[in-house]
Amino acid sequence: MADRGLRDGIFPILFLAYSSAMPGWDTSMSLRCALVAAFLVATGASTAFAGEQTPSACPQVIRRGAYELCAPAPLDSFGRGFKGCRRGRRAHPAVDINGVGKDRGLGTPVRSMTRARVVMVGRPEDNPGEFGRPDDRPGTAVRGGFELPRCKDVPGYGRVHFFSRTMGSWRSGGTVVLEGLGGGLKGHRIRYMHLGGIHPSIQPGVVVEAGQEIGLMGATAIQRTVPHVHIDVVTPNGRPLDIKALLAGDKPRSGACRAPKGTAKKDAARKGSKGTSAGVRRKGSAAPRLDAPTPGE
Ligand SMILES: [Zn+2]
Repeated sequence: MADRGLRDGIFPILFLAYSSAMPGWDTSMSLRCALVAAFLVATGASTAFAGEQTPSACPQVIRRGAYELCAPAPLDSFGRGFKGCRRGRRAHPAVDINGVGKDRGLGTPVRSMTRARVVMVGRPEDNPGEFGRPDDRPGTAVRGGFELPRCKDVPGYGRVHFFSRTMGSWRSGGTVVLEGLGGGLKGHRIRYMHLGGIHPSIQPGVVVEAGQEIGLMGATAIQRTVPHVHIDVVTPNGRPLDIKALLAGDKPRSGACRAPKGTAKKDAARKGSKGTSAGVRRKGSAAPRLDAPTPGE
């Protein structure tokens, strides 16, 4: 990104200075502009970095113990947090952060909480079977009793469709999965769902900084409730982290549930008979999954 600044800014200035200083060269302004344009085209400066973005400063830093995170979105309205345990598993091992403001926050930047590596990206427009078919109709949709625009043109993204017409097998909508590299979340798997748009620079293998925009608040795969981003975090030892507590400034807890009596035996028997892990529950998928999708909203 520093390279971009160099190529877009300093090189043309140096070129102008150089061309102006050349003895005997009558460089009119229009000629200089033409030369600079040609120089930029020749170096590819105007197109080579399309889709890249400059990491923004984090609008809200959260510090708690060993954790230093950037708020992924404005934290004015939380939806669901950790739900109770059922058969040894959390029903909703995640936090839902509701959109706020105009159009219930549709299009609000969603940021990486920490420096992280992109592990997986699920774009509905690229894979509607898995992540749901985007609702590309004009007009409005109603969620949570609010009438909201189905799409907007957003700089850096183009036309963004915020809703889905189908759920897709993941039932997650636009999805980004990260592996934390710092901020107390090193080695944690961090998953964002229901994104209305995913920034073009977000591709597997890319490293994002804390506060960097990864997508937009949306409502993909959300059929009833207000727009929100669903975030779940799993520790390196496979336990869900109560990320809502952390974002709310409370002591972070592990969201692990105590397995009910006899569950371990049943799970072992199920794994043995079906050859699947507990985290993978859907059929018909060739690619190994990171985890089961969280149903619906
Ligand atoms: Zn959720």
